[in-house]
Amino acid sequence: MRATVMHAAGDVRIEDVPDPTLIEPTDAILRVTRACICGSDLWPYASMQPSETGQSMGHEAIGIVEDIGPDVRRLKRGDLVVMPFAISDGTCEFCHEGLNTECVHVAFFGNNGMNGAQAEALRIPRADGTLYALPVGEDHALLPSLLTLADVLGTGHHAAVTAKIAPGKSAAVVGDGAVGLCGVIAAKRLGAEQIIILGRHPDRIALAREFGATDVVPERGEEAVERVLELTGGFGAESVLECVGLGSSTQTAISIARPGGAVGRVGVPQDEAMPASQAAFYKNLTIGGGPAPVRAYIDELLPDILERRIEPGRVFDRTVNLDGVPDGYRAMTERESIKVMVRP
Ligand SMILES: [Zn+2]
Repeated sequence: MRATVMHAAGDVRIEDVPDPTLIEPTDAILRVTRACICGSDLWPYASMQPSETGQSMGHEAIGIVEDIGPDVRRLKRGDLVVMPFAISDGTCEFCHEGLNTECVHVAFFGNNGMNGAQAEALRIPRADGTLYALPVGEDHALLPSLLTLADVLGTGHHAAVTAKIAPGKSAAVVGDGAVGLCGVIAAKRLGAEQIIILGRHPDRIALAREFGATDVVPERGEEAVERVLELTGGFGAESVLECVGLGSSTQTAISIARPGGAVGRVGVPQDEAMPASQAAFYKNLTIGGGPAPVRAYIDELLPDILERRIEPGRVFDRTVNLDGVPDGYRAMTERESIKVMVRP
């Protein structure tokens, strides 16, 4: 079968690789019908050291269960499922708490040698806990929105939850990528009254406004901070969603948070140390977030998609086949595309 393999920064190839097979009795084989390229895939695309074997890429998918091991109980061949980006067993104490990304068996697709979803098929460990069966057919019109349940919608929602958004509150979203845009959807969904997005790309800003952003701040750094303070009565936003992961964006997030407020971080941190520690301390901020337990959020978010109250699939502005994946990485890196959908 064919799969996407990254060999070094800027070097993404489509290669023939062995078909996935069942290894453990709790495995399933997923035939991928929709996958996508993630903003977090762009970090290794910018910086990966050359690797002999390469890294199989992709951690978001919808697909058909093609085969199951003898211990898989909740899924059957032919099921249409969404594949969240993390493996979880669904049975440990963290999974029971709704924190599947801290599962005692957690691993991340398309990372550290795990197989990836920008491929025709892949092996799914602990399939019962990991996969989520969808109540629609494989050509359903809402598939793009359902695909966002694998990562970006759940991740934007996690930023909103950990930033403690509640009805009537003010929110600021740092980052206008697919996660930031889904953060706007989540902030509105949870009742934020004012939603400020920090971003400057016209296509993304237009979508943010349609998703519910009330204010746009195109400035960066200190100017952005001043602008957000002006928009929030001088004190800052009660809830800040950090959807980038750079030191500079984290600094901005902390600087625009209202004293006593909360920052929800879902951008993968690119630095070991967190900036603005003293500012966060003296403002009594709560800093939360981490890899989003998107598997646990599907029950809550799925009805809003099926009943068309939200349309997160609009973040996809380009669709490619596997051969188009390398150019998809380029297009997202150059901000020519917000998010690329892959139909293997
Ligand atoms: Zn678990």
